[in-house]
Amino acid sequence: MSTLDMIREYGHEEVYFVNNEKAGLKAIIAVHSTKLGPALGGCRLWPYQNEEEALFDVLRLSRGMSFKNAAAGLPLGGGKGVIIADPSQKTDALFEAFGEAVEKLGGRYLTAEDVNTDTHDADIMLRTTSHVVGRADVSGDPSPMTAIGVFDGIRATAKFVYGTDELKGMKIAVQGLGKVGLDVAEQLHAAGAELIVCNRSNRKVMEKVVGEYGAKEVAMDEIYGVDCDIFAPCALGAIVNYETIPQFKCKAIAGAANNQILDDACGVALKQRGIAYAPDFIINGGGVINAGQEAFTTYDKEKVLAQVHNIYNTVYGILEESKASGEPEGVIAQRFAENRIRNGL
Ligand code: NAD
Repeated sequence: MSTLDMIREYGHEEVYFVNNEKAGLKAIIAVHSTKLGPALGGCRLWPYQNEEEALFDVLRLSRGMSFKNAAAGLPLGGGKGVIIADPSQKTDALFEAFGEAVEKLGGRYLTAEDVNTDTHDADIMLRTTSHVVGRADVSGDPSPMTAIGVFDGIRATAKFVYGTDELKGMKIAVQGLGKVGLDVAEQLHAAGAELIVCNRSNRKVMEKVVGEYGAKEVAMDEIYGVDCDIFAPCALGAIVNYETIPQFKCKAIAGAANNQILDDACGVALKQRGIAYAPDFIINGGGVINAGQEAFTTYDKEKVLAQVHNIYNTVYGILEESKASGEPEGVIAQRFAENRIRNGL
């Protein structure tokens, strides 16, 4: 699909190109929907080959944020910013200029950190715009809340598939031990689960998980085929694909990674194999619930936690509906979000 067709089909409200020669900034901001509130989505910095590639990414990601925010029950729409640059080219002037562009949108787009940007960069944007959430001194790092929601989503999936959300003795394979994956592994271990893990980097973390939690380490390409009850992808996207689907021995997939399913056909194939799937943008919504709260009320950790724990119910409801209708869980989740955008929360 061409990017113009995407704009037509996805129904973006605004797409804003920024060329600030003085600051060396080339960026695109896409406001997909403000029906539920200001469009929230982070600012990604990436060495895109050209504007077309950046536009494709920002259109797709901004629509994804509309679904994620609506499904999380936030009075927020969906948007995204992308800066076309190499991470080595980060300067204060770049983020100040991006902040100026955000400011011009008058609060219709709220930005935050994302891939290759961090709270330091967000602080620089604050010099030129107030429309920034996920501030280090307010809601802070979203990863711990994401991990809490993922753990709840794993429990809901276990309840649906195995009839219990007690994870004691359950074999759970965790792919990726980064900010979210390590935290999820800790919670799973505390709940008595048996862990099978792999990670691309950081031997220290692996030694801790193997040494302290008794986890079994496997090679990165072996994780898909291990004998386990639940596979928890916490590293990469597109890991449910034509190569991996035949390998899975688990009855359920529930983890933090974004965009887990390669394409619609893989969603159908997974369903046909009888493997339950906790939709990624629902189960990993804890971080956006945490940061998003800054946008519409005073940050209150207890209220955030209550909303994050509700991920259990949302995941369980989607699994039930998918069983009843026979449609893949991802399809049900998208419809759930679209209905909320159309009819309100
Ligand atoms: P991270 O960069 O801290 O961790 C990713 C980990 O995955 C790293 O330890 C890396 O070594 C490992 N890894 C990379 N490729 C691997 C492979 N092939 N096999 C095994 N391990 C591999 O990232 P994170 O913040 O923990 O996020 C993890 C996933 O969750 C990402 O897909 C991210 O988009 C998604 N997510 C994160 C948040 C959040 O709050 N951090 C929120 C929503 C979604």
